[in-house]
Amino acid sequence: MQNNISIIIERICGAVPEDRVLRNEPMSRHTSFRIGGPAAAFVIVNNEEELEEVLAVVTGSGTEHMIIGNGSNLLVSDAGYPGILIKLGGAFDSIVRDENNPCRVKVGAAMLMSRTSAFLTENGLSGFEFASGIPGSIGGAVFMNAGAYGGEIKDVVTTVRVMDPDGTNLRTVSGEDMQFSYRHSIAEDEGILILSAEMELKEDAPEAIAARVAELQYKRNSKQPVNYPSAGSTFKRPAGGYAAALIEQSGLKGYTVGGAQVSEKHSGFVINIGNATCEDVLAVMRHVRETVFSDSGITLEPEVRLINCSL
Ligand SMILES: Cc1cc2nc3c(=O)[nH]c(=O)nc-3n(C[C@H](O)[C@H](O)[C@H](O)COP(=O)(O)OP(=O)(O)OC[C@H]3O[C@@H](n4cnc5c(N)ncnc54)[C@H](O)[C@@H]3O)c2cc1C
Repeated sequence: MQNNISIIIERICGAVPEDRVLRNEPMSRHTSFRIGGPAAAFVIVNNEEELEEVLAVVTGSGTEHMIIGNGSNLLVSDAGYPGILIKLGGAFDSIVRDENNPCRVKVGAAMLMSRTSAFLTENGLSGFEFASGIPGSIGGAVFMNAGAYGGEIKDVVTTVRVMDPDGTNLRTVSGEDMQFSYRHSIAEDEGILILSAEMELKEDAPEAIAARVAELQYKRNSKQPVNYPSAGSTFKRPAGGYAAALIEQSGLKGYTVGGAQVSEKHSGFVINIGNATCEDVLAVMRHVRETVFSDSGITLEPEVRLINCSL
């Protein structure tokens, strides 16, 4: 297997310059949790042609692979990832305003939400304020249908440019066809890759937009443990309740295993208080799930994506 993967990595180096193919790259460097062992290779892909070629190599050889965004919703195993992790950069890290419709922008999947928000604010385009503090990329946000403060990515996305998991069938799909629902899109079911998204906003004064962004940032900073590494809300909101409230009612605020802790500031977050391992986080998550279930009968489902590990 190791030989096999070495050959695949050599072939990837034929599609992408070698300095963008990082071997045995610790995933703790690429996740907001600061947790995760090495990926066999971490490949930065800068345009559609490179992506097609890399996907042809990995799917043609049956090599395990996955695309990641800004790593802000990931818990990666301490053992790492045995295959190829792909991250978009270069041409995917872009935003342009539509020449024919000034309320529309096309945003590359690698663009961070914060930078997208800054561009839209400067250009007097409103509707994205809710997302300004979410620390992910546009690709990850579309995949997850990320949301906050009453808004969701589906409210602003009109179309999404995608390709199939094997790098073929480049096409544009409508927001409706993305089948967005709570923290979910069709990308999860079908494994399609998100390359860019077109968004429709409304014109407003930059100062008014900036004021709303600042207000939401203030709320976020005062309620969330933003000074500790985490992956945001650990569990999804269950039907008829809030994960944080259930966790708090079960007396689990501050529950700690090793370096992982249920945040004292916001019990919906498991935080890394220092050198947490993936196993520490999983142990906290298991205990939270079991305790909340035995207290309330509600099963919490993880919102954080578990990579090469399970609850
Ligand atoms: C402090 C903090 C606060 C947070 N607050 C919020 C919040 O308010 N609301 C919210 O919704 N989330 C929140 N999150 C979680 C996270 O930021 C979001 O889920 C975000 O959308 C993930 O984007 P990402 O680029 O980091 O994706 P990643 O974490 O890298 O990946 C997430 C999933 O998306 C897939 N993916 C990524 N890019 C692509 C692509 N181009 N094509 C196909 N699939 C792709 C990956 O395979 C993976 O399955 C928070 C996280 C942190 C750390």
